[in-house]
Amino acid sequence: MPHHVLIAQFMHETNTFSKIATTLDDYRRQRLVTGDEVVERFAGTRNELGGFIDMTRRFGWKATWPVAASTTPSGRLTRAAWEHIRNLILAAARDADRLDAICLSLHGAMVSETEDDAEGALIEGLRAAVGADVPIVATLDLHANATVKMARNANALISYRTYPHVDGYERAVQAATLVQQTLEGRRKPRCLLVQPAMLKGADHGRTTQPGIMRDLLRMADTLEQQPGLDVVSIQVGFTWSDTPWSGPSIAVTHEPGAEVAAQRAADALIDEMWRRRTEYSSSYRSIPDAVAAARTDNRDAGPLVLAEGTDNPGGGGYNDATDLLQALLDAGVPDVAVGTIYDPGTVQQAFAAGIGARIDVSLGSHTDPSLGKPVAASAEVRHLSNGSFKNDGPMNAGVEVSLGATAVLRIAGVDVVTTSTRMHTVDAQVFLSQGIDPATRNVVVVKSAQHFRAAFEPMARQVMLVDAGGLCSTDGSRFRYSRLRRPIWPLDELDHPHAVHPE
Ligand SMILES: [Zn+2]
Repeated sequence: MPHHVLIAQFMHETNTFSKIATTLDDYRRQRLVTGDEVVERFAGTRNELGGFIDMTRRFGWKATWPVAASTTPSGRLTRAAWEHIRNLILAAARDADRLDAICLSLHGAMVSETEDDAEGALIEGLRAAVGADVPIVATLDLHANATVKMARNANALISYRTYPHVDGYERAVQAATLVQQTLEGRRKPRCLLVQPAMLKGADHGRTTQPGIMRDLLRMADTLEQQPGLDVVSIQVGFTWSDTPWSGPSIAVTHEPGAEVAAQRAADALIDEMWRRRTEYSSSYRSIPDAVAAARTDNRDAGPLVLAEGTDNPGGGGYNDATDLLQALLDAGVPDVAVGTIYDPGTVQQAFAAGIGARIDVSLGSHTDPSLGKPVAASAEVRHLSNGSFKNDGPMNAGVEVSLGATAVLRIAGVDVVTTSTRMHTVDAQVFLSQGIDPATRNVVVVKSAQHFRAAFEPMARQVMLVDAGGLCSTDGSRFRYSRLRRPIWPLDELDHPHAVHPE
């Protein structure tokens, strides 16, 4: 009889400082797929679901797919969204005649109106439903705020080892292989989670250049070779979240009897993370610096890519900051493509007017007026679409996504991809699907802090991270934490990372 495995995805990176609640409609608009449609939609894709689908075939599992759910980072999930999707997964576990294992694709930094540790609550619920002997393995984002509750109730936590995250497929293969070996009786994994007294660390996990995160991952690779250790995962945490567990952690999945080796491995990684805690590779530049660079037109060498990491919807930013756009317009910089500004009202106005029409717009900066002013301008409607496209990769290649109803507005020399859904700019199709070839432009503006590099760095003559305002400031002192464990570096003075915290 084939093994019966429940496989589900429930992802969210929750920015608890955002004023926008994350609703079930947000999931419906972006990804809320149930049943066997999960296989139809994601077979062949290079993410966790694609990996799990392929492994199901390789190992001959009978799989149940209750749900695949993911949406753009924003504020806490409403109780309705959290309970609806959680219940789809719990019900599938409870209703199964016989269940041999559970594979989960999670983010690890999800917070709902009712749960500060939503993934911990989900895995705990599943453990209660299936008992102690059914293996539960979860993949996580490397920006997970992982918790002891997650580790205690799962058998393994396996995080991405790349940022940009291009190894979701490989991590699912690793997770499924561990499950298969467990089902064959060759392994008996359990998971230890250790958390330092740090709110951030490891250069936010960047792996695009030599540095602390790559060094830590090499250490983890070596540690994994020790007898009894299955997986050593490094989570760097998600800072814009006010929970007791926010920040980095080490998850060591190990065999019975290897508890001491697991603890030592975690401690070694934490000591190194602490020793090099001030190493930080990305330097944000000011808007005047960005405009000065944009004035040097050298497009034959590729576009200047300006990345507004501080308005990054991939971190919960509102995706509608306009200060950089306004500065580029004021400076008369030619041949600019901006992807994207979230402004569903202006998109509706453009649809009503039609392609070729001129409209007076009040564009962007509607979500939080304290963060900036809308751009008041006359715009030409250049392109209208439903905003759907298939990612070209390298990230999430083959996955179909949607910007919602989308209008390209031309204001002076600037084309603005104006959208109805917040989504970070990680794929060139954000432009190409809207009739804009970013590789041929003088300047390309993206709303992303790091993921954009996978697709845009190869075409760019230069990449510049810009602090152009927005919710995701890199200045932690701007945020008021009330739920976070203390003391914690860098908010408090500490001389070691091993403060004892309540669980
Ligand atoms: Zn991440």
